[in-house]
Amino acid sequence: MNLKQILLTFLENNLFLKNGTCPICGKVLFVTDRFLCRQCEDELPIINNPTCEKCGRPIFRQDRQLCTPCAKHNLPFAGGYAHLRYEAIGKNLVHAIKFKDRPHLGIWVGTQMGQVIAKKSWVKEIDLIIPVPLHPNRLEERGYNQSEKIAQGIMEAITQAGVNKKALTLGSQYLIRSRDTPHQIGQGREERLRNLTGAFTVKQIEAIQNKTVLLVDDVLTTGATLAETGATLLEAGVAQVCIATVCAVAE
Ligand SMILES: [Zn+2]
Ligand SMILES: [Zn+2]
Repeated sequence: MNLKQILLTFLENNLFLKNGTCPICGKVLFVTDRFLCRQCEDELPIINNPTCEKCGRPIFRQDRQLCTPCAKHNLPFAGGYAHLRYEAIGKNLVHAIKFKDRPHLGIWVGTQMGQVIAKKSWVKEIDLIIPVPLHPNRLEERGYNQSEKIAQGIMEAITQAGVNKKALTLGSQYLIRSRDTPHQIGQGREERLRNLTGAFTVKQIEAIQNKTVLLVDDVLTTGATLAETGATLLEAGVAQVCIATVCAVAE
């Protein structure tokens, strides 16, 4: 290695992040900038208006506790948290975690979420954190399950906050996607649900009996995916299901 290469390697290892650039705007990132540049981080559309008690989706009427999908379809969630509105930088962030090979960005956003979840009343009840699984075909394509990375970050932050006295564990192995489903973009709720019925299977039923599970997914749109995974877990003997998503579409 000549001197120039040694110097470049040193700079790459000590000055710049592994992924090199901000996934939103493309600006070069130094190690101190973490995973998004300061400006993009400041502009994240964090949800700060009233939210649905069950799923965490933003609602715009003060006189209600539930969003329309939760009220109408009686979705099976005991509590929920959504971090960002599914728009602008929120949308770009999820896209980068899913499609731009940025697993560490998923862990980072998970820790941001976990710090807020640590203040929720239901955090004390969680025994297991389970990411919505990908079908093995998709997992091979992507190299990682983005929801598992997010779940990992959430668990780290909750553990660090010391608010959950249980032996909180990541239970990715307990739920699998046994059937590959077509991309659901553009489909209505009924069609999504039809495609998803029976798509998930619980493994090691005895390990989840009477547990409270925090289900983690990247985006909450109609709620069909989380409703189906939640129902699968409840049928298998889980006591209650809470949910956490990076982005939620407002009702
Ligand atoms: Zn940026
Ligand atoms: Zn809701």
